Amino acid sequence: MKQPEKGKPQKHKAPVWGYLAVLGASFVAATIAGWAGSPIDNYAYDWMFRHHPAAARPAESILLTVDEDSLEAMGGMRHLRRALAEALVRVAAASPKVVAIDLILADEGDSGDDAALQSAFEKIPALVLACELIDGGSRWEDPIPRFRRAAAALGHVHGDPGPLDGVSRLAPLEKVAGHDRRWALALEAFRLSRGGGPIVESPHDIEVGGLTIPARRSESRALRIRYIQPLASGEFPLPRVSFRELRDNPGLAERFRGKVVFAGVTAQSAMRDRMLTPYSYGTYMPGIEIHASIFETLARGGFLVSASNLSVLLLSLALATAGVAAFAFRTGRQAYALAGLVLAAAHLAPYFLFTHGLVFPYLAPVLAAWLSTVSAGSLQFVTVRRALRRSQAETARYQQAMHFVTHEMRTPLTAIQGSSELMSRYSLTEDKRKQIAELINSESKRLARMIETFLNVERLSAGEMQLKREVFPAHGVIAACIERARPLAERKQIGLHFDEAAEAELEGDRELMEYAVYNLLTNAVKYSPAATEVTIATRLDGARLRLSVQDQGIGMEEHELRNIFQKFYRTHRAVASGEAGTGIGLSIVDQIVTHHGGRIEVTSAPGKGSCFTVVLLARSLKSAGAK
Ligand code: ADP
Repeated sequence: MKQPEKGKPQKHKAPVWGYLAVLGASFVAATIAGWAGSPIDNYAYDWMFRHHPAAARPAESILLTVDEDSLEAMGGMRHLRRALAEALVRVAAASPKVVAIDLILADEGDSGDDAALQSAFEKIPALVLACELIDGGSRWEDPIPRFRRAAAALGHVHGDPGPLDGVSRLAPLEKVAGHDRRWALALEAFRLSRGGGPIVESPHDIEVGGLTIPARRSESRALRIRYIQPLASGEFPLPRVSFRELRDNPGLAERFRGKVVFAGVTAQSAMRDRMLTPYSYGTYMPGIEIHASIFETLARGGFLVSASNLSVLLLSLALATAGVAAFAFRTGRQAYALAGLVLAAAHLAPYFLFTHGLVFPYLAPVLAAWLSTVSAGSLQFVTVRRALRRSQAETARYQQAMHFVTHEMRTPLTAIQGSSELMSRYSLTEDKRKQIAELINSESKRLARMIETFLNVERLSAGEMQLKREVFPAHGVIAACIERARPLAERKQIGLHFDEAAEAELEGDRELMEYAVYNLLTNAVKYSPAATEVTIATRLDGARLRLSVQDQGIGMEEHELRNIFQKFYRTHRAVASGEAGTGIGLSIVDQIVTHHGGRIEVTSAPGKGSCFTVVLLARSLKSAGAK
């Protein structure tokens, strides 16, 4: 006989589909929430950025700045070109590697100043000038031709402030107007500093002077800028010389030797382009410092690469799966400890990956881990609590039944005891002795039956009982049961009728089947008032035999019908009737019928009687037609 519980989910465990639903829902919710990008991702990125700065190294670039002092000394922005020309003449004398000018020189200025600036530009072999997208990004605005001619390259000066908080974390290395594509000022400066060779492109990266830069074409060749950690004073630690310092101390020009120079405005009052950075805490960084930072990012080479969408999905899925698995496969402290590990992993993984140059969003994986662990944990909690309640109720019923059974056993035991005492103490007539011996015999048989019933319950539910496979006529079983139950029925003047509309053969364990039918029959008699009728009927329904036991007894409430097949359950009416019972019989009947591949149907109404119908696969012998 197969184990009744084998293959079925254990009752204290939530079903597999429950955990799968939790997994799916957590994963989808986390992915949707994380998809749009959230401020949390940005906070986390900036935090990691500040806690894991790029290793310090000597700067390759130097700033030539127009600060407030210089602005004042030159007499305002009107004289910028002249001042720039003067400064560049000094810088050029020190042979810098590259000079990049972060100023828009698209208009004619004072002709004298322009001529001076042009001649200063011409002294610089590797000069990068700035260009800018105008007219809503539809065309480029370049420096006027006299400057343009002196430049080795033009580079765009656009930033990419984050859409949520305006912090500039990415540098778009490429910008396009129509078919006219321009590289970033810093990238052009870098290219020239590495020999001025071509930029080789592939969909995923670009290659300049032997360096592969991870910048996808689909993302405007965006590169994560690794800003240099600011000093404690908040100042940006790139070397710098202002126009004024250079004018006052021309010897400072030596500092530009062999360097990549970024020239631009840092004076707050005159700055056109400035942006927030992960370090800036609300203060703006001048564009020139951002360009220098992009250049240093390229020069340093240790890039931060955004994880692909697929790997983000896989990480979230892995964490959600681990979170659910913790509760699907473990319980109690172990499950909570595992869930704790999953959550810790979810929080630490982005940082760990960041330290290895891989940028994952923070929200989606963390949310996947939290949603999955919390909901799988709740699912487990609810299931375990329900199982606990059920087992508490069962224990209570079991205790009640034990109480009842021990009480029941006392009656035959007392009879046996008393009778045996009578026999040993007194000399009795042969007749009397025989009578007492018969009583002892029948009472001990009753005891044995009670014990047998109990053992059967245990064996059947433990799956230890062997189901025989024999073919036998239903008729024989029913007739035997009627004979056995007749004395019981007669005591209550209950008539037993057998309405055999069909004769059929059953296959299985005849003994167990007899036990089942006998149980239904004795129940019908037990729970019926005196002088009523109990009818057993057989009817064929296709390949099935319908064997029903109908009484005119106390009946049951609709809601009780669901419980009568549970062990130790008794209806109030049955208890009130004073009939002895354990509430076990029907649970065994149910198991026997189920093991024979059949089912039981019950119809009943209080005070009107009940009808138990066993439906079993059968082979017809002879049918008198269905009734
Ligand atoms: P018991 O030993 O109490 O008869 P069973 O498992 O055979 O145990 O039956 C469970 C309960 O189902 C009974 O206690 C009774 O409340 C109810 N029951 C069973 N058969 C009938 C019936 N024919 N009429 C009314 N109630 C019944």
